[in-house]
Parts: sequence; structure tokens; C-alpha cells
Amino acid sequence: MKHLLSRVVCQNSDEKQKALVELQNVCSQCRACDLCKTRACTVFSDGRADAPIMLIGDAPGPDEDAAGKPFVGRAGQLLNTFLTESGIDREKDVYICNTIKCKTPQNRIPTNEEKRACQVYLFGQIAIVKPKIILLCGTTALQSFVDDDIKITEVRGKWLNIFDDIEVMAISHPSYLLRQHSQEPNTPRWFMKKDLEKVKAELDTLVT
Ligand code: SF4
Repeated sequence: MKHLLSRVVCQNSDEKQKALVELQNVCSQCRACDLCKTRACTVFSDGRADAPIMLIGDAPGPDEDAAGKPFVGRAGQLLNTFLTESGIDREKDVYICNTIKCKTPQNRIPTNEEKRACQVYLFGQIAIVKPKIILLCGTTALQSFVDDDIKITEVRGKWLNIFDDIEVMAISHPSYLLRQHSQEPNTPRWFMKKDLEKVKAELDTLVT
């Protein structure tokens, strides 16, 4: 993976944006797995090409499939709330994409075959954007980079040693947090807040 990422060199924001548009155009025509048959459109990304944080979710849901953008709908709104409360600016600081670019039937978990088929786009996005921090948001995103038997509850909130030059952390998916309402200490929403505060502190050290 590291070898693949080192092959792409974009010097500035304009070059990154151009490379991302080219990759998105290829992705929009992709028929590499059967998910192409049930999508309304591919859902490639949202956010600035030169953002310091890349947030990688699982797969588009029905709202994202209809809008063509990741993290819209209630889960996206909850994510925005958490980001804002931690001092992270979604517009300025975060490039958002998903592990899988096409909606899965009935929102089922993507298969390993589908994840492998779609990796070329995700790794391309990482190589082009070259973020300082990657947030793996949800189990599918996490298990695309670590062993399948590692649970998000075991590693969320910890810095993971995956890339030499990118800090990586797993965080809970906002869809899961929609079903968790407590704000009390040591509950999922409380952990999300603490995890993003940690990310913001790290971001401040990396960009100043
Ligand atoms: S999920 Fe990925 S690999 Fe499968 S058709 Fe969509 S873009 Fe292509």
C-alpha cells in the first residue's frame, strides 16, 4: 500500500483537485463489482482536496446515493455537530469519502470482494490528498486497514500505526451514535467527543 501511495505526487491544491476529478470520472463509470447494478450514482467525496483530515466512512446509504455526497442525512448532521463541537471545521479541515463508493442493497455490510474491488479509488484518494490525519469512521473502514477480527470498540480513540507519515485513528460511525442518546461519561457519544478533541489537539500541532 505504501508503495502505491508514494507513486502519486501532487504539488499543490489545484493539482490535487484535478487528479481527484479525473479519478472521480473513472469511478463514476465503474462496473468492477455488482454494486454498480443497484446504485443511483457513485458517491465519491465531499470536501477540500488539500484538507488536513481525511474521514473515511463505510458505504453510502440511501440518502448519500440520492445526493451523490457522503455523510448527508441524519448521520451526516450528527457528524457535523460532533466536528463543530470539537473545533474541527468540516468545510475547511475535512475531506470525506467512503470505503465503498456504491450503496449496498438494504445497507448491508460490504463483502471483502467488494472492498477489494473498490480499493483502487480509496487508495487513490489517500495518495492524492495526502492528509495529515485519517479517521476511520466505522467497522468497514477500520477493517479495510487492519485484521477483520479487530473490533472498533477495541481500538477507537487510539493512534494506529498504519502509515509512516499519516496519523490514523478509528472513531465510531455517527449512524451507530444515532441509536445512543446518553451524554454521560464513558458512553459512546462521550467517547466520540473525547476522540475528536484528541484529533483537534493533534491537528493543531501538525498544522502550526
Ligand atoms: S463499489 Fe466500487 S468497485 Fe464496486 S462498482 Fe462501485 S465504484 Fe466500482
